[in-house]
Amino acid sequence: AQIKPVSTKNQEKNIVYKNKNFPIEERINDLLNRMTLEEKILQTNQWTYGKNANENNIEDSKKAVRPEIGSLIYRSINPVYRNDIMRKAMNESRLGIPILMGFDVIHGYRTVYPIPLAQACSWNPKLVEQATAVAAKESKLSGIDWTFSPMVDVARDPRWGRVAEGYGEDPYANAVFGVASIKGYQGNKLSDPYSIAACLKHYIGYSLSEGGRDYHYADVSAQTLWETFMPPYEAGVKAGAATLMSGFNDISGTPATANHYTLTEILKNRWKHDGFVVSDWGSIENLISQGFAKDGKDATLKAFNAGVEMDMVDNLYIEHLPQLVKEGKISEAQINEAVRRILRLKFRLGLFDKPYVEELPEKDRYYQPQSMAVASKLAEESMVLLKNEHQTLPLAKSIKQIALIGPMVKDSVNLMGSWEGQGIPSSVETLMAGFQKEFNRKTILNYAKGCDFDGKDESGFAQAVAMGEKSDVIVICIGEKKSWSGENASRSTIALPQIQEKLVATLRKTGKPIILILSNGRPIELGRLDKISDAMLEIWQPGIAGGNAVAGLISGRLNPSGKLAITFPLATGQIPIYYNMRQSARPKLGGYQDISSEPMYCFGHGLSYTQFSYGKVSLSDSVIKKGQKITAQVEITNTGKMDGKETAMWFISDPVASITRPMKELKFFEKETLKVGEKRIFKFEIDPMRDLSFPDANGMRHLESGDFYLTINGQKIKFELVD
Ligand code: BGC
Repeated sequence: AQIKPVSTKNQEKNIVYKNKNFPIEERINDLLNRMTLEEKILQTNQWTYGKNANENNIEDSKKAVRPEIGSLIYRSINPVYRNDIMRKAMNESRLGIPILMGFDVIHGYRTVYPIPLAQACSWNPKLVEQATAVAAKESKLSGIDWTFSPMVDVARDPRWGRVAEGYGEDPYANAVFGVASIKGYQGNKLSDPYSIAACLKHYIGYSLSEGGRDYHYADVSAQTLWETFMPPYEAGVKAGAATLMSGFNDISGTPATANHYTLTEILKNRWKHDGFVVSDWGSIENLISQGFAKDGKDATLKAFNAGVEMDMVDNLYIEHLPQLVKEGKISEAQINEAVRRILRLKFRLGLFDKPYVEELPEKDRYYQPQSMAVASKLAEESMVLLKNEHQTLPLAKSIKQIALIGPMVKDSVNLMGSWEGQGIPSSVETLMAGFQKEFNRKTILNYAKGCDFDGKDESGFAQAVAMGEKSDVIVICIGEKKSWSGENASRSTIALPQIQEKLVATLRKTGKPIILILSNGRPIELGRLDKISDAMLEIWQPGIAGGNAVAGLISGRLNPSGKLAITFPLATGQIPIYYNMRQSARPKLGGYQDISSEPMYCFGHGLSYTQFSYGKVSLSDSVIKKGQKITAQVEITNTGKMDGKETAMWFISDPVASITRPMKELKFFEKETLKVGEKRIFKFEIDPMRDLSFPDANGMRHLESGDFYLTINGQKIKFELVD
């Protein structure tokens, strides 16, 4: 009853914030001048709809939403529904400020792509950009303006289930893929019809949660923060990431959601980020359980003052900011600055000028041919051939019978992985379906489930053995259920449940070649599986087009080109283990007494059906002056019998410096197709400031002259940096 409209339609042209001909900052100033403190504070909150609200009951949902709310976590796939809610914001709030609709679009919206960890193993950022562009379009057509992606938390502990959501263990790879993903989501500009805003998360240090236990304390030294965790965030901010999400974790005593240093001093002051930070789900209230705030009011004060502009679902900002302003603990100028950042994104997205989305029928929104093509390509390129003894793969054309065994063969749920957006199981091509299409009528497929993912029931083993015995080869599809990785999915061992290993061991006794197809959201401890198989293909959680890709790789229609973006430990007890570790004081000592210190499969590992031979690496000069650049090059030849793709990875080591440095660091990579017999020169231009410097504990970069090494595919070449 108290709502007073600001204008009638024909007065609107004269209102600066409603007129798109004015620059965004002027529109914001004008709008801020008109807003009450309460209206401002409402902008700093994100709500869900409340328990009873759902898309089948628009009236109820609308009732649950305050028209002045800043943002909603939007769970609908129905653009009509979004438009209805938006109409409420536009028409029933005094100022008509559009609501920002957010949703977790992590690896596709309806067309589900491989999980991010798999995407990184493709080493094909262009493809990742295409995938996120498709995801953005499907999202926008469903009414979403903002995704909580990409996650660029560098993986350090695969017990932590969320390694599935990031781009592996290398900071540079996380930076490259994070940027690719942002570009795809955000397009050329946020106001493009199918762009959505990205959110870098979870700022910062979350992946170092102790013991891999989700949400736990993370002891992040300042050096590690800058060396390992900051680079992908800095790159993402430079690439224009609209927003960031603050993590759940404690960073060495100051929780990420109340960390003034990371949120304000670095992000806003040093990097000049002009978007906003949203807390993670409940992370403001969590400051209480972390022992950093005594109650909701204190938590609000600490999060807000540290630089969190939007409260995700805690409802604490609404509740406590008015009083905190009254008490002078937070100034209205600070509120204005926070709201300015939120409004800026709404203006940039063009929401004031075009609040509603197209209302297309479902068939025109999802699974478009181009989206499906990207899903297939990305699934194919992300799979990693871990092992291929006696050229077991690809299968001979003459093969008559294939046994397809395992709980993953007919699975359509787990292949999607966690955070599957609005993906639906019936859209997923199962491995069975992929094999049926691939091998047609010429080959008989003998299926048996064998066992479940977990448990003790071996009653299906006999049938599996029977199927194996009458076949020429046994393909066993095992791995993790989707709920075993992702959020709140930590595991004390990264080995698969024993029943799965037992199934493989039982089938091994048939004497038939054993091919393992592994689908999982983290690296797994292979244990005996490595010894009792002839070939292993890591397919991760490949999304809706996995079946086709797996069958194509097994038949040899496709050639594997994925390489690990994360190390496979030999045993869980080796964790943490990653390629860019520092050198030990006694490199030959101090390993484990009971097992080797080497991982099972290291970062960068991945086989092909063809061979790539590397020529001798050369440098345009073996001495580099600061401020100049030199170029390294190597000729790579496809000397095998199949066209294929090779990823050249260039690493740099700095053997002696004023602080110790990792043994080597990835600085550049490039993936190219090489036809049979084709030669190609791969180049890497070394830029000293970018590639040879290192950060100190406050993020300042130092460039020290001296010797360096360049490594590619096992070749090591020395060069010198001089002043
Ligand atoms: C997760 C975030 C996610 C958010 C919203 C949280 O529990 O940690 O990654 O974006 O929920 O769904």
